[in-house]
Amino acid sequence: MSVESLFPRLEALLPKVQKPIQYVGGELNSTVKDWDEASVRWALMYPDAYEVGLPNQGVAILYEILNELPDTLAERTYSVWPDLEALMRAEGVPQFTVDGHRPVRAFDVLGVSFSTELGYTNMLTALDLAGIPLAAVDRGDDDPIVLAGGHAAFNPEPIADFLDAAVLGDGEQIAIAISEVVREWKSEGSPGGRDELLMRLAESGGVYVPKFYDVEYHPDGRIKRVAPNRPNVPWRVHKHTVMDLDEWPYPKKPLVPLAETVHERFSVEIFRGCTRGCRFCQAGMITRPVRERSITTIGAMVENGIRESGFNEVGLLSLSSADHSEIGAVAKGLADRYEGTNTSLSLPSTRVDAFNIDLANEFSRNGRRSGLTFAPEGGSERMRKVINKMVTEEDLIRTVTTAYSQGWRQVKLYFMCGLPTERDEDVMGIADLAKKVIKAGREATGSRDIRCTVSIGGFVPKPHTPFQWAAQADHETVDRRLRALRESLRGDREYGKAIGYRYHDGKPSIVEGLLSRGDRRVGAVIRAVWEDGGRFDGWSEHFSYERWMAAAEKTGVGVDWYTTREREENEVLPWDHLDAGLDREWLWQDWKDAVNETEVEDCRWTPCYDCGVCPTMGTEIQIGPTGKKLLPLTVV
Ligand code: SF4
Repeated sequence: MSVESLFPRLEALLPKVQKPIQYVGGELNSTVKDWDEASVRWALMYPDAYEVGLPNQGVAILYEILNELPDTLAERTYSVWPDLEALMRAEGVPQFTVDGHRPVRAFDVLGVSFSTELGYTNMLTALDLAGIPLAAVDRGDDDPIVLAGGHAAFNPEPIADFLDAAVLGDGEQIAIAISEVVREWKSEGSPGGRDELLMRLAESGGVYVPKFYDVEYHPDGRIKRVAPNRPNVPWRVHKHTVMDLDEWPYPKKPLVPLAETVHERFSVEIFRGCTRGCRFCQAGMITRPVRERSITTIGAMVENGIRESGFNEVGLLSLSSADHSEIGAVAKGLADRYEGTNTSLSLPSTRVDAFNIDLANEFSRNGRRSGLTFAPEGGSERMRKVINKMVTEEDLIRTVTTAYSQGWRQVKLYFMCGLPTERDEDVMGIADLAKKVIKAGREATGSRDIRCTVSIGGFVPKPHTPFQWAAQADHETVDRRLRALRESLRGDREYGKAIGYRYHDGKPSIVEGLLSRGDRRVGAVIRAVWEDGGRFDGWSEHFSYERWMAAAEKTGVGVDWYTTREREENEVLPWDHLDAGLDREWLWQDWKDAVNETEVEDCRWTPCYDCGVCPTMGTEIQIGPTGKKLLPLTVV
């Protein structure tokens, strides 16, 4: 049955809203396929505004891959701002895709990609506007399968009631596999309705269907066990890992936004995974093992991406781009190739060593030497041992001094506050470090015209990391430490004016902590916040801590219990039945090592320390042109 475009009805509303261009679609490289010729139809959502959602790589890659399948179509949908939401409600216009302006409810699958838990309320807005019941149990055969992916889907329990399914890990292959399951089920006449489709997905072992698992609790509130409630449903659901990135050189046709977006460049992911072992970093832990793209594929992707999009900036993405085993050759090759053109290159890297500055120098050949960012993350040597960020003060000062003496005038240092075992003096160490950086920079350059910006984020313990058992610092402690740090920096007559200071208060981190390590009972809080008007929680101007606390109280959920409480080794964690490949015993040992201030090396350059990922997948980390380990380019 054909589906009509909602655009004529939407168009009448657009003159009354801010930035209407974000809702019209038609971007270069966007695709609108014939509805009737497709047998499987996906709506892909990034649950934030267009300006944040459009550059998202995960959605862009799946959009292309699914649209390349002959019998599948994929369209995109984003969160609408409250001004348009109000008008859509008043005029009865449902949630729409920006490609064909088709109603989201008409699709077979609504795939939502969560980079952060703060997008949960936005998903509820989209479901409600689409006319899809919020609770999965209330949905019928005419509703799409609501499927979550992205990093937050590694613990989807707080949104389990709103989801039909979730997928862990890389999406390229599993999206195609899911499409095939849906296509087959529909071609058979949709036997057994929605329940059988979900059963087929769950039985495949690669899709988590929350309703096929029951959670039992101890009287004190801890989880007793999570167990399948149907035969043939696996006890544990594993993550997906694309082992050969060269076989998946996407995006091939980058979307070019019509409205202003947070990044306007062509991004190439040069490797996936990270084994540096920073204990706070969920992305590093859940994306193991390391898989590099070859230098030839990177070169071909850059060339093709620029040609297809017209972008004049190329970003080389990964969790720590300077760690690609051939990055020196990649940087020089690309800088030579594009020297004198209007194409600029960027390497969003935070590694603290001189090699990183060499790379930045290569990449700035076509541009200005404005700012460099380094992330020591912890303010004291002790803190950096706890989090396994192996940077000494000497390294940092030496690196930053090199940057200043090579013409960089602005250095940004990124830290976290509220880390496990943190004391006041660890945070005050940030001020000492920043002052030493300016002092060394002035001595090296003979100039007072240098600046350093200290940027601080609140730490949130995440599932599938060694800190998953840790007590989160309460927001009063974090705020008190940040105030003392600000006073120390501002009050310094010699260096204070050269040091910028950016920080956020600790309250949003507590809400993020609740959502990150929450279980199914937290779903009631999310729903209550949304019903109370909660939208765009990732935006400080929309976020309301008071609204979240009121909702927690109303639903009887103890926020402290989920956030500032340390967990015991044998406590069943809400995500224990979801397998990121990491061995639980190794994670616990790494947590104990953290408390004892013991570091572990990067297994790319040292022997395997048995985190569990490689044997689980029957593979090994892949680096270097042959896929075998090479010596590092510089000793780190
Ligand atoms: S299993 Fe060993 S080699 Fe593989 S990622 Fe873990 S520590 Fe590194």
